[in-house]
Amino acid sequence: MEGESLAGLSPEELGEALALGEPYRARQVYRWIARGASGWEEMTDLPAAERSRLAGLRPRVDSSSPAARLEDPDGSIKLQVRLADGAAVECVLLEDLEGRRTACLSCQVGCPMGCAFCKTGSLGYLRDLSAGEIVEQFRFLRAAAGRGAISNVVFMGMGEPMLNLGAVRKAIAILSDPRGIGLSLRKITISTSGVVPGILDLAEHGPKVRLAVSLTSADDGLRGELMPVNSRWDLAALKDALARYQAATGERITLEAALMGGRNSSPADAEALVRWASPLKVQVNLIPWNKVPGLPFSEPSRAELEAFAAVLERAGMTASRRMRRGRGVMGACGQLGDTLRA
Ligand code: SF4
Repeated sequence: MEGESLAGLSPEELGEALALGEPYRARQVYRWIARGASGWEEMTDLPAAERSRLAGLRPRVDSSSPAARLEDPDGSIKLQVRLADGAAVECVLLEDLEGRRTACLSCQVGCPMGCAFCKTGSLGYLRDLSAGEIVEQFRFLRAAAGRGAISNVVFMGMGEPMLNLGAVRKAIAILSDPRGIGLSLRKITISTSGVVPGILDLAEHGPKVRLAVSLTSADDGLRGELMPVNSRWDLAALKDALARYQAATGERITLEAALMGGRNSSPADAEALVRWASPLKVQVNLIPWNKVPGLPFSEPSRAELEAFAAVLERAGMTASRRMRRGRGVMGACGQLGDTLRA
């Protein structure tokens, strides 16, 4: 029991793990944990005798703990979270101009996908996170925010969610459970580099969350250079999987294009993207690449970004320019992973 996370357990699992007896007792504990409680003394509707029994068992709601907090002047908060085995991950709270708050969660310590433009990818892979370790990041970000609720969750932190789909699914079940945290599935996004079996698995078995794909380039040669995943599942296989996901969910898919100056950001690159995406229903997030020391890319100019967007918009596509939020704390896209050990 010691060292295990309770944050990733369903009411039924909690009841069993803590020998809570009546199912309503497990639901009480589950609700407290969902509201953010981390100690038994906070659970004031449990009988005192039960609270001291639980204190005696020494179970912990959270198995990990925030080790460092960085705040950007734009309001973004990055937490470094120390895991029970000493490994570390990062998670980020981003706030947009309308005040919507999004928790960007990690699902692996490091990442095995090796995207050339990504800091996390350059660090390698240590291990998968458990569902509890994923939910704990949400809990820590909510506590760090101090005010207002988190309305959205994106699996865009460290790691490839499709390679840890079991734990990601379980974490989503906890985050979206109306008996607990209760986020709408429509407010949860899984972002993948293009792991086709994972997309197909999700299409068939759910949950029906929003799907985002790091496209980066619609040219197999260039995408292969930037994203090794493309040599395993090329653009044709990826498109076929996305069409199946869209048929299963009816939802628009987000294509993310991390644009690097002079590499994949020309109007011709944009035209290739338009041709490739048709007839999928997509929206495109243009993400100006964020500088990472040591990586051989440059940020795109404003003119490159606007010319790229103009091609998409002329073709009738929705193209949003993702704000450069969190840059001051190295918490922006592709910048996570100062270290894998706290
Ligand atoms: S972009 Fe995502 S999938 Fe690629 S290396 Fe970075 S974390 Fe992994």
